[in-house]
Amino acid sequence: MTTQEMKMAFEQAYGKQVEKMYFSPGRVNLIGEHTDYNGGCVFPCALSFGAWLLIAKNADRVLRFQSMNMPQKYEIPISEIQPQPDKAWCNYALGCIEIIARRHPEAKLESGYDLLYYGNVPAGAGLSSSAAMEVVTARAFTEEMGWKDADDKKYRTELALIGQACEHEYAGVMCGIMDQFASAQGKKDHAIYLNCDTMEFEHVPVKLEGIKVVITNTHSPHHLDSGAYNDRVRQCKTAVEQICKVKPIKCLAELTPEDWKEVEGAISDPIAKKRARHVVGEVARTAAAVEALKKGEIAYFGELMTASHVSLRDDYEVTGKELDTLAEAAWQVEGVLGSRMTGGGFGGCTVSLVKDEAIEDFKAFVGKEYEEKTGLKADFYVAEIGNGVMRLE
Ligand code: ADP
Ligand code: MG
Repeated sequence: MTTQEMKMAFEQAYGKQVEKMYFSPGRVNLIGEHTDYNGGCVFPCALSFGAWLLIAKNADRVLRFQSMNMPQKYEIPISEIQPQPDKAWCNYALGCIEIIARRHPEAKLESGYDLLYYGNVPAGAGLSSSAAMEVVTARAFTEEMGWKDADDKKYRTELALIGQACEHEYAGVMCGIMDQFASAQGKKDHAIYLNCDTMEFEHVPVKLEGIKVVITNTHSPHHLDSGAYNDRVRQCKTAVEQICKVKPIKCLAELTPEDWKEVEGAISDPIAKKRARHVVGEVARTAAAVEALKKGEIAYFGELMTASHVSLRDDYEVTGKELDTLAEAAWQVEGVLGSRMTGGGFGGCTVSLVKDEAIEDFKAFVGKEYEEKTGLKADFYVAEIGNGVMRLE
């Protein structure tokens, strides 16, 4: 789909010309899984696929929503913006518009708009099509409503916060800040070392000569549901409480692997102990991975990714057959430096570092193993690390 084709689709949908056009990316997390709500860091990067938004004002004081990916169309008067029933897809946009006005009283929606979305993030793969849609909407409507921070870095962080608030209040998903942050603050050929608590971050160059980041989609119907997610959050809290008997801490990310040896005996609950062991190890692995990347030690970076998967499989128990089959097959391929699940777990995608000359073997072997063991077909995307949200024209 070219931008020209999107513009033609807009003209067909609304019988008029596009006025402005924006893009915001999906993301993949390279390492640092289930660390965010434990005070730790994550290491995502923005992708070159994402969500496009085309808009033009209308004189009817309504917001009209259409998507090239969805059959449903919505028309909402600008005086009646509230969450729509039945998991309406327009909620991911509508919420942003209302939240901009709430967080920035000087921002005013003074006109109706016709909107058309197009997304090319594979649906439901955990690569954050929802965050891309939220952040692209927040970018467009902060501008239209007359509020924009002059400081670009602060402005992008605020776009992420608007998107996250929308996801919480209009989609009912209590997500952390990583997805919207990566979509807003992404930088070409860089990953984002981000502390999700403080929102302090650093762009780290990803220089992988002769190596590609390959994303493999399980197409599995299994997902990390809110029940399993909330269980993990609770188990980590239990671990913190029990550790506090011997060492006062606020969150698991405060602990180094050396501290762990001293405190693990204080955790009497065996499940909580496993969960905490993953978090402490993953926080250290993420820091080590960032250092490895800075020094160009890509083989070590890959080993840390693989160790992350093993820990998510054995201690955090969020992988499942599909993700394990993909990762374990990848590890067997000559020229694979590392492979792990990415995202919440159970379904979604793996992310692997693969030498250029091994990519065809990788796809053939992993694809075949996966189909034999699960009856499902995997999809492969060679990722390009792209920029964060932008106005195109
Ligand atoms: P993901 O992991 O891709 O973020 P989610 O379930 O969080 O998966 O979000 C997917 C939902 O976001 C879709 O069901 C739809 O409601 C909305 N969405 C994402 N992209 C688009 C789009 N291009 N057009 C319309 N709705 C979209
Ligand atoms: Mg999402």
